[in-house]
Amino acid sequence: MKAAGFFTRSDLTTLSRAASLAEKLTVRYFGLTEDEWKLHPYGIFTRREVDCSLHETDAFANVIRYRTPVIKPTVPRIEKYGIVLQDPNILLALLRSCQHDLWTLGLFILTHELTHIVRFRRFDVDFFASQDSAHREETTVHGITSEILAGVTNTDYIIALYESNIDAKTINISKA
Ligand SMILES: [Zn+2]
Repeated sequence: MKAAGFFTRSDLTTLSRAASLAEKLTVRYFGLTEDEWKLHPYGIFTRREVDCSLHETDAFANVIRYRTPVIKPTVPRIEKYGIVLQDPNILLALLRSCQHDLWTLGLFILTHELTHIVRFRRFDVDFFASQDSAHREETTVHGITSEILAGVTNTDYIIALYESNIDAKTINISKA
């Protein structure tokens, strides 16, 4: 995929608003308590913030698992999930599409990745699953994401964008 730049500050504001809505929607869908994401915070990173080993050429985002850095010897390190947004791939997809709507695509991506995280945390889905199981999980997560977003946003356009690239695993998880 050709690089298409990185998110601007205003893009990041849009994505942070999309993340707030994605959090509310996943909480509602899975019947979680309102403080789910406060109690189990996750990180959102852009490509510039992560090591190049986490750069994906054909994905909009990927879920990682990481341990918080040592702040003080007395503070235990916590294992967290994180979402790495592959900004050049997301921006390129928007350039190719007739609708330049980062809000909608961002909402779709974040809902999808939060659904992965809920399933890793609460449904015993194996983060290090084999390729076959990971592929089946991808189909399940895609189905759930579509259900969550039905009636919320312009899902037809986003789902078509996803499915047109599904062979290239456009939205996929990858190993930490
Ligand atoms: Zn996925």
